[in-house]
This record gives sequence, structure tokens and C-alpha cells, in this order.
Amino acid sequence: MSAIERIPEPRSPAPLPLIGADRAALAAWMAREGEPPFRARQILAWVHQRGVVDCAQMTDLGLALRARLADAAVVARLPVVAHERDADGTEKWLFQVDPQNAVETVVIPDEDRRTLCVSTQAGCVLHCAFCATGAQGFSRNLTSAEIAGQLWQIWHAAPPRTPLRPIHNVVFMGMGEPLANYAALSPVLRLLTDDCAYGFSKWRVTVSTAGLVPMIDRLAAEHDVALAVSLHAARDDLRDRLVPINRIHPLDDLVGAMRRYAGRHPDREVLVEYVMLDGVNDTPADARDLVRRLAGIPIKVNLIPFNSFPGSPFARSPAAVIEAFQRRLIDSGIRTLVRRPRGEAIAAACGQLAGRVANRLPERHRFTGTGVSA
Ligand code: SAH
Repeated sequence: MSAIERIPEPRSPAPLPLIGADRAALAAWMAREGEPPFRARQILAWVHQRGVVDCAQMTDLGLALRARLADAAVVARLPVVAHERDADGTEKWLFQVDPQNAVETVVIPDEDRRTLCVSTQAGCVLHCAFCATGAQGFSRNLTSAEIAGQLWQIWHAAPPRTPLRPIHNVVFMGMGEPLANYAALSPVLRLLTDDCAYGFSKWRVTVSTAGLVPMIDRLAAEHDVALAVSLHAARDDLRDRLVPINRIHPLDDLVGAMRRYAGRHPDREVLVEYVMLDGVNDTPADARDLVRRLAGIPIKVNLIPFNSFPGSPFARSPAAVIEAFQRRLIDSGIRTLVRRPRGEAIAAACGQLAGRVANRLPERHRFTGTGVSA
């Protein structure tokens, strides 16, 4: 045998992230193994409906297939570093995703329904002026398995007597910007709405964005989920300061994307999030600007009383100011709710999630991750 003749290596199966793989990814793996596509549905049911990730227990698969699957499957369990519960029932988990980073996930109960707020990134590059996550910097995108894993672990850790569904709504409003991690987000959205996995209705899954305009269009084209836009200001000069991605995608562009989203999904309203910052964006003129800007788009508005965090330079608008702002919007025909702060005592409220992030972002790249500085 000549020295350069190569001995074929044993075939190593492509790794399959079991908790993050959607039906298409599972079917593609099965096809490579010469198996029919319906096997993907069987795996989804085992993993997501029954909480089984030990392939040996997947009894409706043949023994040989179970063995091949076990060789290929990677199951990333996320160690729980902390679990807290507020007196108002809100619960917060801190999940370790790697030795340097941990992300937070919140469950917010409301009467008999529970909303899960998941993180998509360890940290965030967008650096919104009023947000604790942005202040921490950015380490990395989460994988599909780490995003879906937050739901998987909480769902299957629920006591067996939990009536039917442990979670009723999923909102991508945790740490990070979901549309900046679209490649990992997209399979998770499919898992959530797949009847063989979690079977959430399209009304019960919400993606929130600070305004990544091109990705809003992509989301609109590829998924049918609810869109929330973190607007917070209706004038470019103010929004440039509060939500710096506005310098790249200014209000005209963002409002255009919201209009197109609503056009593509005529049965939907776009949810507008607006944090109430004392003396910053809460005047009657601000309310008027908001009404003008969004005229003709089917929206509903959530006013979010600012939640403070250590070192934040803002204060919450007084209740009377929030009420007057709400009244102006309602009088202009816009359905407007004030979001009741939840989980404040355990720093689980909007904008307070910080986890533990090993920031890798030089200060000058903080704002957009595209090299544009302040
Ligand atoms: N990056 C996405 C997902 C985060 S959602 C986005 O920006 O939409 C979290 C929501 O809470 C956003 O609307 C965000 O702007 C808002 N928020 C951030 N910091 C806050 C704070 N300190 N108080 C109240 N709301 C805050």
C-alpha cells in the first residue's frame, strides 16, 4: 500500500441538535439515513410532546435506527443556575448556555394562562438607552437548541398535574434581538407552531424587534406570527438616541415595514411597544406624533412603564402622565393598554433581564454590530 493511499474513515453521522431541529431538519437527517419523512414527526412527538431525549426509549423506531440516532443526536441541556419566584407569581430562570454565559427566561402567569418570555442572544448589540441587556454588551447568538431548550426545559419540568399546557403564549422579548439571530429563530418558530411539537396557534407566538427593517420583511414572508415593534419614540431625533438602530433604519423605513407586515397579514394588528420615560417621550406632543406616524396601520399599543435597573439614567413617567398619554391614543382610535409591571422584585420585568454575559464587543461597536458607532 502506498504511503499516500488513504484508509477510508468510518462514517461519522452528522450531529443532530435534537431539541432545536424542526421537522424539515429531522426529515433531511432521516432522508440521509434512507428513512421515510414521517419519522421526523415521530421524533418531534417524543422530544417535544413527551419530553423524551433518550433515543433508546423511542420505541416506535427500529432498534438499528435508535442506535444511529443516539450516535448523531446532541442534546444540550441547559443547567439552571438560578430560579426565582416573585410574590406576583412571575418566575425567572437563569440558564447556563456555556461556561461564560447565562441567559434569563421568564414565565408570567395571568389568571389561568402563562406566558413564556425567551432569550435569543447572550447580550445584545443594539444598546437601547433604557435597557439592561444592552448595557451588558454582547457575547453571542444562541443556537436553535438553546432557544427552544428554554421552553423544553420549563415545559417538561412542570409538575405532571399541570393542566394540559404548561405554557400558553411565547414571546421573544427576553435578552437579545430575535431578528438579529434569524437563522436560529426561524426553526424555533416552526417548532412552536408545528402540531407534532408544541402546536401553538399563530396568535400565541410573538416576535419583538427594535426595528431590523429587512428582517421584518423576511419574517413576514416566511412566518405567520405576531409582530411587536419596540418603537418608543415617533421622531427620528429622539429615537436615534433611545433606540440607536434607528440611525440605520429610520422611522419612515420602519413604519413602511410595519405597513407591509400588516398588508401581508391582513388579519393581524402590529403590536407597538412604547416605554414611558419621565420627561423624555411622554408629552402630549409625543402622543400626537405617534398617532400621526402610525395613521392607517392596524396597530395596538402597549405602554410599558419604565423599569429601572442599576445605573439607568431614566425614571418612570408618573401614573397620571401615562394615563393621559393612553387617553390621547384611545381618543384617536388606537387600542392602547398599559403593561402592568410584573416580576420587578426579581428583576424579571421588561428591560431588566441581564443574565451573565461575557461581553466581547468593543465599546465603539456597541450600537449595531455593523461597525457603526454612536
Ligand atoms: N430586542 C427586542 C426584544 C426585547 S423585548 C426588542 O427590542 O423588541 C423587550 C421589550 O422591553 C422591548 O420593547 C424593550 O424596548 C422594552 N424595554 C427594554 N428596557 C426596558 C425598561 N428598562 N423598562 C421597560 N421596558 C423596557
